[in-house]
Amino acid sequence: MPVERATPERAEELVHNYQQIVTQVEQATQKRGPGPKPRLVVVTKLKPSSDIQALYEHGIRHFGENYPQELEGKAKELPEDIAWHYIGTLQSNKCKMLASIPNLFAVETLTSVKAANQLHSTLAALPTRRPAPLNVFIQINTSGEEQKSGLPALSPSSASASAGGGEVVDLAAHILAKCPTLRLRGLMTIGSLDSSVSAHPNPDFERLKETRTALLAALRERADLKAAVEELERDQEGGLELSMGMSNDFVEAIEQGSTNVRVGSSIMGARPPRHSS
Ligand SMILES: *Cc1c(COP(=O)(O)O)cnc(C)c1O
Repeated sequence: MPVERATPERAEELVHNYQQIVTQVEQATQKRGPGPKPRLVVVTKLKPSSDIQALYEHGIRHFGENYPQELEGKAKELPEDIAWHYIGTLQSNKCKMLASIPNLFAVETLTSVKAANQLHSTLAALPTRRPAPLNVFIQINTSGEEQKSGLPALSPSSASASAGGGEVVDLAAHILAKCPTLRLRGLMTIGSLDSSVSAHPNPDFERLKETRTALLAALRERADLKAAVEELERDQEGGLELSMGMSNDFVEAIEQGSTNVRVGSSIMGARPPRHSS
């Protein structure tokens, strides 16, 4: 069931845009200094499968989508070795469908124990087990804006054992202790548009880093999680990844330590309004 092909002009445009972003990612990575190369996720929400296929043929594998139905449809018709990232608001009634997509690489927007349980129970009940656990990122609302989802950020003091650590610590501990089909991979933020254009360094990205430090400190104090936390810190540099940076701020995000940038419109072009898709 091959998807419709992009015109040669469109394919060339996409590859050209992608290469320009890759160059900027590489420059920012060099400027930042040592550490793993950040992953570039191409955000393709509201864009046709033919666009994704064209980028796939250029060797790109990591794509991000925001709407469960749209992701499900695209995953069915596009190649099986695409690594999909779900980056939309996560409702627990959509977890079952998402967890059933065999090549879903990551859910970047986890914010509740309930959703973690739904993902885990679906994965545990699949007729064929996934070869690897599903990566999850906990979304943090670093800007505190009401319309953004995500758990509150942690400050260096708020996560101490005596302070209880808060919701992020509880969710992370739950994933580590109770959800073996999930792999706690990192933290994710969107951040406020204001700070991405005006403030340097970007305070949202600093808050995500602080949250990671505080979260790891709180988890290390939990005797029951000792083995799991050691594994986390052994498996990846920094213990947890930071998913931060979009079209207008990914360069700065990388300079501030992002390991996963999500770039849409500067590769794919402007998106149509959602209801017309
Ligand atoms: C749409 C979206 C992006 C991509 O945004 P651009 O500004 O188009 O690069 C990244 N992350 C999330 C969570 C998004 O919803």
